Amino acid sequence: MKQVILHSSVEDKLKRGRWILEKDDFPQLDLDNQAVAFYSRKGNFLGTGYLSPQNKGIGWFVTEETVQFDQVFFQRIFQQAKAKRTAYALDNRTTAYRLFNQEGDGFGGVTIDCYGDYAVFSWYNAYVYQLKEVMTAAFKQVYPEVLGAYEKIRFKGLEQESAHLYGQKQEEPFLVLENGVSYQVFLNDGLMTGIFLDQHEVRGSLVDGLAAGKSLLNLFSYTAAFSVAAAMGGAVATTSVDLAKRSRELSEAHFLANGFRMDQHRLVVMDVFDYFKYAKRHGLSYDVIVLDPPSFARNKKRIFSVAKDYHKLIAEALEILEPDGILIASTNAANLSRRRFKEELEKGFGKTKHQYLSEYGLPADFAYNKKDESSNYLKVFTIKVDK
Ligand code: SAH
Repeated sequence: MKQVILHSSVEDKLKRGRWILEKDDFPQLDLDNQAVAFYSRKGNFLGTGYLSPQNKGIGWFVTEETVQFDQVFFQRIFQQAKAKRTAYALDNRTTAYRLFNQEGDGFGGVTIDCYGDYAVFSWYNAYVYQLKEVMTAAFKQVYPEVLGAYEKIRFKGLEQESAHLYGQKQEEPFLVLENGVSYQVFLNDGLMTGIFLDQHEVRGSLVDGLAAGKSLLNLFSYTAAFSVAAAMGGAVATTSVDLAKRSRELSEAHFLANGFRMDQHRLVVMDVFDYFKYAKRHGLSYDVIVLDPPSFARNKKRIFSVAKDYHKLIAEALEILEPDGILIASTNAANLSRRRFKEELEKGFGKTKHQYLSEYGLPADFAYNKKDESSNYLKVFTIKVDK
């Protein structure tokens, strides 16, 4: 295994618990896809990791032990991850959740999700992709009950984004359950699967009645999962807005799967900022508004970035919110801290009085590195507005 000597500042960073390696940590290193042993300048062994560029960082520190990234190693960490999730495995009202979450489960660069009897692996860099034989072999040992798996390629350089990985195929869309609600998913069609599993506690709050008897507007709705959860929890009407045409049929499928007719559930294909204008022109207003934009989006008309523009969403939403309404403000932007996100929200509220009702981060199946705030990337606030 190649040996790499770390500068003391990098050593400090690792000791503090931030385990992603960055380009600036290694001014002179040739980047390559391999496991490495890390040493301090004084020659002390620090641990094992690997180098491989990905969307964030150029590799991962994995463990303070000397290890080989072989089948035995992965069997051990998959087994530990499985043990942490017994409550999910036993809950027959939820059949889709995360089985393995990067460094939170002891190995950065890979996630594995369960969708009913199937698994979806996401590879975030070329090194973990090289290891896929050993990792899938280990996974099959630990999860013999999984019938088949797909893979998502989340790094640059390969042609395909999604492929069948092993076992039985499930090419047709099918239903999974979460908090007793059915969602239609597809496992081999681009990077997305029809549902973002990290939001299951927020959807759970809607199933539990946060919007009972109320009207809900779901902005950046994708497959309208928040709207369906709200409808299950007794919302009387929902409107879901997304720019992508395909969101319409996928959203309808979620509603139909739960026995709803579409009379009280509108699906609108429109830019959210245009929808604000449309709603104001038509005098539309809502009791609950969900805001869950992508971290960054560029379309023909505008660029939207959560870090700079979220306050505009809040200010616009306030104009079409009913008195004593509720905003659910969400972001998954890892580069924005919880504190800075809250500042952005406060900027949007201005002088409007409001109270924070509850706050969410990643749920327990999305185990994250407790010492590195950026790995708990999901930030959601439920806020009651007094006006
Ligand atoms: N809230 C969703 C996930 C949102 S993903 C859920 O819980 O499942 C982000 C979505 O925003 C994508 O579906 C994308 O099509 C949509 N989008 C991006 N920019 C938009 C815009 N300006 N107006 C409306 N939708 C937009």
